[in-house]
This record gives sequence, structure tokens and C-alpha cells, in this order.
Amino acid sequence: MDYPGNLFVVAAPSGAGKSSLVKALLEIDSQLQLSVSHTTRAPRGQEKHGRDYFFTSQPEFDAMVAGNAFVEWAHVHGQRYGTSKKAIEDRIAQGADVILEIDYQGALQITQAFANAVLIFILPPSWEELRSRLERRGEDPTDVIEMRLKNASEEMAQAHKFDFVIINELFERAVFDLKAIVHAQRLRYAAQRRTRAATFESLNIP
Ligand code: GDP
Ligand code: ADP
Ligand code: 5GP
Repeated sequence: MDYPGNLFVVAAPSGAGKSSLVKALLEIDSQLQLSVSHTTRAPRGQEKHGRDYFFTSQPEFDAMVAGNAFVEWAHVHGQRYGTSKKAIEDRIAQGADVILEIDYQGALQITQAFANAVLIFILPPSWEELRSRLERRGEDPTDVIEMRLKNASEEMAQAHKFDFVIINELFERAVFDLKAIVHAQRLRYAAQRRTRAATFESLNIP
């Protein structure tokens, strides 16, 4: 199925800066909408239900899996996370661009349902920096940070399956790179033909 809206999927090991980058992009791009995931993990300090995640109990999550509500779901860092199919399908069918911030297992599942999804992997500049960002963020206890670092090598080994890679060293540069990928996608022939139909017609381009 070819939808008018674009689907962007961003994955990264925890602490690489995925949420900060996507947040910065959303602030400057009003055409882009964030897909809010469901998770069984507990909310962190400032997180709000419905804004950051739909915080879901284990039985509720089970019911959604059984009801085929998820386009993808995965076990990540000992919790379950999933993306509701209807939420993204409705929006890209209406022509909105939607961005997903999910783990690599989910990202690879998304391409099965949405073949045109654009997959973007965010890398940290080094192991030292990844660890220090997780520590600086101060949101996770030490054992959780250690588990996230341990999982990071397995996650980064999947980066080659993605369409684009951004190394998040200088934050502003990485935002620029992310913006460039989104922008290029909107300049693809089919997208331009759709959004600038009147111009094409006035130029007699069928
Ligand atoms: P939260 O999870 O929403 O509380 O926010 P984050 O910790 O992910 O980031 C907080 C804010 O700092 C966001 O608005 C980011 O855009 C911004 N930010 C994060 N890292 C950097 C950085 O290295 N440089 C700059 N200029 N801004 C940053
Ligand atoms: P993720 O969503 O990938 O787990 P976050 O966006 O929460 O990662 O970023 C982890 C921490 O690193 C945050 O405290 C954030 O402010 C910081 N951070 C993000 N990008 C950069 C960067 N380019 N330079 C320095 N710190 C950064
Ligand atoms: P965090 O707990 O730090 O918010 O997220 C942990 C991991 O779960 C990150 O890698 C994040 O991308 C991933 N994640 C968040 N939402 C989803 C989702 O809906 N599906 C999948 N598969 N992973 C997700």
C-alpha cells in the first residue's frame, strides 16, 4: 500500500541521543508527528502518559498483542514496547509524516508492513561518550545502565540494515543531518508530484 505520508523510523542504543534529536526535529518541523509507543516500563520523572508513552500494564499489553493492535512489538531491556498500527496508518493515510522512535527489532518489523519506511540509525561517537550520556541523563539506576550498555553492541551490529546512519557527536550537526534526510524524502518524485500537483499540471507534466 502506498500512503501519501512518509514514515521515518529512528533507532539507536539507549543514550545515543535519539529522543533529544527527534524532539529537536519536532520543534522545527510542524509537518512531522511523533508516534507514541506503548510500554510496560514505569514512567520516569517527567514522563507523561499519552505524551511520552502509553504506560500499559502487562495484561493490557497481552490483550493488545492478542487483538493484533501492534504493527510491531519487541522485548527491550527487560520490558515490552509496541507501536499501535492504527495510530500510524490513519495519519500517513491522511498525508502526515510520522516519526517512530523504536528499537532495531521493531524497526525491522516495520518494513514488513510499510515497505517505504525510511530507517535511520543513530550512533554515539564512542563507548565512553555513550556511557557518560547515560550517567549524565541520570534517569536510570546503575544496573539498568549496565544492561543498556551491554545491549548496545548487539543493537549497533544491526546498523547496516538501516538506510541512513547519523553519528550524534555535535548535537546541532546531528539535527541538521536528520532534517536533511526528512527533507530529501519530501523531494522524491512521487512526493513532489502529489504535494505540488498544480505546478506539475501547469507545466503539462502528466
Ligand atoms: P527530555 O528527555 O525530554 O527531558 O530531554 P533530553 O534529556 O533528551 O534533552 C533535553 C533538551 O536538551 C532537549 O530539548 C534537547 O534538544 C537538548 N539537548 C540535548 N543534548 C544537547 C546538546 O548536546 N546540545 C544542545 N544544544 N542541546 C541538547
Ligand atoms: P536516547 O533517547 O537515545 O536514549 P537521549 O536523547 O535521552 O537518548 O540522550 C541521552 C543523554 O545524552 C541526554 O542527557 C541528552 O541530553 C544527551 N545528549 C544527546 N545528544 C547529545 C550530544 N550530541 N552531545 C552531548 N550530549 C548529548
Ligand atoms: P526507553 O525506556 O529508554 O524510553 O526506551 C528503551 C528502548 O525501547 C529504546 O531503544 C526505544 O527505542 C525502544 N522503544 C520505544 N518504543 C518502542 C516501540 O514502540 N517498539 C519497539 N520495538 N521499541 C520501542
